[in-house]
Amino acid sequence: MTAHFDHIGKNGNKIFNGADDNASGTAALLSMAQQLTLYPPQHDIILLFTDGEESNLKGAKAFIKEHIDILADIKLNINLDMLAGSKRSQQLHFISRGLNKVLSTNQLATLKNIQENSAIDLKKGFKSMSGARNGASTNSWINASDHGVFHKAHIPFIYFGVGVHKNYHELSDTYQNINLQLFIGAVESIYQQFIFIDNNI
Ligand SMILES: [Zn+2]
Repeated sequence: MTAHFDHIGKNGNKIFNGADDNASGTAALLSMAQQLTLYPPQHDIILLFTDGEESNLKGAKAFIKEHIDILADIKLNINLDMLAGSKRSQQLHFISRGLNKVLSTNQLATLKNIQENSAIDLKKGFKSMSGARNGASTNSWINASDHGVFHKAHIPFIYFGVGVHKNYHELSDTYQNINLQLFIGAVESIYQQFIFIDNNI
């Protein structure tokens, strides 16, 4: 499981805090660590906090480069990047590739059921910035965050995020401006999906 902890830095003395992008994913990974301690999973899990995501996915690329020897053992990357959105964000989105390499058709159907019955509004695919839903925008989302690096290394992935919103890469991406309810529901939903995958992969 991956989440990047870097953000875009400073402009003069103004700090871009990046509450949604990606303190939210980082906090979710810490929460996951707590859950995994209480309820040990079936599989070994790497909780990878990446740096340099905003500088062309540097941290994820370094991880892949330095761990060639274990790549064949990595069944899946679950990447968390922007789980809390703005106050107006109402949905969590996801995309995945290669899940059929690690889960059967029946298991995928059950996972889909879990996703559809999620406590929050969980949508497959992302809208483009203009609001249109099309293949091109989904393709660009494949390389939009650290999961793209795992994808290039032929590792299946699921990526969770809220999509682009008004505070994205702005000074207004602060804790006060996130949707806390959406974030809490997102973490819960991702954990439930994780448990199913861990028990079935
Ligand atoms: Zn990000």
